Amino acid sequence: MNISSANTAVQVLGEKLPFPLKRLASLAYNYWWSWTSDRIALFQTIDPQVWERCGHNPVEMLHSATYERLTQLAEDPYYLKQIGSLVREFDEYMSTKDTWVSRVAPQITQEHPIAYFCAEFGIHESLPVYSGGLGILAGDHLKSASDLGVPMVGVGLLYRQGYFRQRLNRGGWQEDYYVDNPFSQMPMELMRNWHGEPITIQLQVRQRMVRVQIWRVQVGRVSLYLLDSDRQDNDPIDRWLTGHLYGGNQETRIAQEVVLGIGGVKALTALGIQPSVHHLNEGHAAFSTLEVARQEIERTGKSFYDIEADVRNRCVFTTHTPVPAGHDVFSPDLIDSFFAHYWTQLRLSRQQFLALGARRLGDPWEPFGMTVLALRMCRAANGVSELHGHVSRKMWTILYPQRSEDKVPIGYITNGVHAPTWTAPLMAELYAQYLGEDWKTRVIDPKTWEKVDNIPNEELWWRHLVLKERLIAYTRYKVKKAREQRGEQYQIIQAAETLLDPKVLTIGFARRFSPYKRGHLLLRDAERAMRIFGNAQRPVQIIFAGKAHPADEEGKRIIQRLMEWCQHSAIQHRVAFIEDYDIYVGQKLVQGVDVWLNNPRRPLEASGTSGQKVCFNGGINCSVLDGWWCEGYKADANGQGINGWAIGEDAHTSDQDLQDSIDAQSLYKLLEEQIVPLYYDQDANGTPHGWVQMMKASIKTNAPLFNTDRMIADYVSQVYVPEIATRVGPILAKVLV
Ligand SMILES: *Cc1c(COP(=O)(O)O)cnc(C)c1O
Repeated sequence: MNISSANTAVQVLGEKLPFPLKRLASLAYNYWWSWTSDRIALFQTIDPQVWERCGHNPVEMLHSATYERLTQLAEDPYYLKQIGSLVREFDEYMSTKDTWVSRVAPQITQEHPIAYFCAEFGIHESLPVYSGGLGILAGDHLKSASDLGVPMVGVGLLYRQGYFRQRLNRGGWQEDYYVDNPFSQMPMELMRNWHGEPITIQLQVRQRMVRVQIWRVQVGRVSLYLLDSDRQDNDPIDRWLTGHLYGGNQETRIAQEVVLGIGGVKALTALGIQPSVHHLNEGHAAFSTLEVARQEIERTGKSFYDIEADVRNRCVFTTHTPVPAGHDVFSPDLIDSFFAHYWTQLRLSRQQFLALGARRLGDPWEPFGMTVLALRMCRAANGVSELHGHVSRKMWTILYPQRSEDKVPIGYITNGVHAPTWTAPLMAELYAQYLGEDWKTRVIDPKTWEKVDNIPNEELWWRHLVLKERLIAYTRYKVKKAREQRGEQYQIIQAAETLLDPKVLTIGFARRFSPYKRGHLLLRDAERAMRIFGNAQRPVQIIFAGKAHPADEEGKRIIQRLMEWCQHSAIQHRVAFIEDYDIYVGQKLVQGVDVWLNNPRRPLEASGTSGQKVCFNGGINCSVLDGWWCEGYKADANGQGINGWAIGEDAHTSDQDLQDSIDAQSLYKLLEEQIVPLYYDQDANGTPHGWVQMMKASIKTNAPLFNTDRMIADYVSQVYVPEIATRVGPILAKVLV
C-alpha cells in the first residue's frame, strides 16, 4: 500500500507560523513535548487563557494564536533560545540509533514491530480517549517503549466523544455529559494514500459492511493508530461504533471489540505493517487473534488447526481483572449475529468457534469469554502484579484441568509509571542536580536513587511545599468554578478561595468510585474522622477526585456522601472534591499531596498505579497491601513502615462488613498515632525531618521498581523476545511462558 509519508499536518501548521517558530509545529504534533521539563511554559506562554480553554491542546493553541502574539514571541530571544534547545533535543531523540533495545534486543525491528492493542490510551489530557488506569498504563507503555527505542505501534479506537465527563449537581449527584472531540484540530493526522484519500479498511459488523479510517498520533518514536468509523459513507448507526468509550450495552461492546481486534489487524495490514508480536492489553482486543488467523488461512490455504500454533506464537496477552465478573463475555446469540459470516472464513463450525471462548466445553449456553479466547490463542499471558498473578492463576485453573494451580501458565509483570510524565518538573530539576543530568535514562538503576540521600532536607521540603501550594490553588480554582456553575450562594462560592491550607497535612484520594475501592471508608466512624480532620492543633485535610461509571448507582451514592461530608461545618474547609478527574488533575494531585490513600477490598486492585506516581514526587503511600503496594511496602523488624504505611495489615476475613470495619479502625489508628505526629514534628523553620526521611525512603525504594522502563524491559525480555531473558539479567524470570 502506498502511504503518503509527508507529514502534511505539520507542514500546514508550520506555514502559519512566523519563520523562527516553525518548528513549534513539529513539537505540537508529537506528544514527546508533554514529558519534557519545558512542558509547563512551552505552549501556555503563547496565551494562558486559550491554552486552558482548548484543554492544553498544542495544535489548537497554535491555530488559535493571533499573528500579533506569535510575532511578539518570534522576536523574543529568550523564547527562541528555549525553543531552539528543545528542538535540538527532540531531533536528537528522534534520530538516535543508540537505544537500549538496539543493545539488548536488536531482533525487534522497525519492519516487524510490536503491535500493542488496547481499548483506551491515556497519553495526555488533550487526547481524551481514556477512562482510567488501563488507558494510563497503555499510554505510559508507549512512552517508555519510545524512550527505550522499542519498535512499537499502538492500536486503539478514536472515540468521537471519549469517556463521559463528570459534573456534580447541588445534591452532590453525578451528572454525566459528553463533549465532541475536535479531530481536525487535534495533534493527530488522518492516514492517506498518495492520492490524498484516506486509507480505509472494511469489515463486517452485524449485517453491514463498515468502512473505518485510521488516524496517527505520534508518541515520541512510537506511532499510535486510532480507528474511526465516523464516516459519511457508513450507516448512521455505524458512525457511532466509535462514539463512546465503555458506553452502551453488550451489543455496542462486542461491536467495538470487533472493530478494535479485527479492524486493528486489518488496519496494520493496510498500512503495510507486519508485527512480530501482537500484544493484547486486556481481553477487549482478543478478536485480533482471529484476524491474524484468518489472514494466515487466506495466505496459506491451511486449516485453522494447522496454523493455530503459528498464531499463538505471534500473540501475547496481559490480563488486568481480578474478579470473574470483570471479564468481558458475550452470549452465544450475540456471537452468532456478529460471527456467523466469520467462522466460515476460519473454516470452523459454529461449535468449534464457540469453543474458542468457552470456559467449559460442551455446554451450549456457555458464554464466549474474551479472556478465555486470549488465553487460548496467546503464547504468553501475565497479570499486572505478583498478587494479581496468583489470583489470575487461581481464577483460570479451570482452563488447565491437567495442571496444578501454580503451574497455570499466567505469570506477572508488575505495572509501572512513566517517570518523566508523572514527576513534576520542579522535582525533575532537583533530581537532575543531585542524581545526575541523565537520571531519566537511568530510572531502573537503584544506584541512581541512592543519591536522594544527598538532597538536603530543606531543599526537598520547599519544593514539595511549592507543589502542594500549587495543588491547593488549583483545587480552590476548580471548586470555585464548579460552585458557580451549580449556582451556589455567593458566600459558598467565595469560601472556595480560602479552602484548604498549604501548611496542613494533605491526603489525596483519587480513583474510580467503584464500591470495592471503598471511597468512603474514611467516613465509617464519622465522629472519629471528624476529630482527626477538625483537630485544632494538628488538622488533616483531604482532596477527592474520581468518576463513578454512569451505570453504577452505588458508586454515585458514595460520591454523594463525600459531597455531604464536604459541607459539614466543622470540616468544610478541610475537604474538597475536584470534578472530572483526568490526567491533568491526576498530575496536580500526585505531585502535591503529602499522603496518597488507597483502601480497596483486597485483592481486587490488580495493580494500581496512581500511588507509584506519588513516589516520584516524594509523596508517601498509605494503602491496603493490595496490588503493587504489596511489593512496594517495606517495614522494619518491629513492623513499622519505612517507606509508607499499610492499612489493616494482618487481619483478613471473608466477612466484608467486618473487614471494612477492621480496615477503617486501622486507618484511623495510623493517622492518629503515626502519620499526624510524624508530619507535625517540625523544626523551628518548619521542616519535618522525620517526615522528609520517609519521603526519601518512598522515592528511593519505589522509583527504581515501579516505572515503565523496568516494565518494558520485563516485557521485552520475558514476553516479546523471551530468548534473551538470561542475558538481560535478574529483574526477571517471572513469566511462565
Ligand atoms: C494514574 C491514573 C489512574 C489509575 O490509577 P489507579 O491507581 O489505578 O486508581 C486513573 N486515572 C487517572 C487520571 C490517572 O492519572
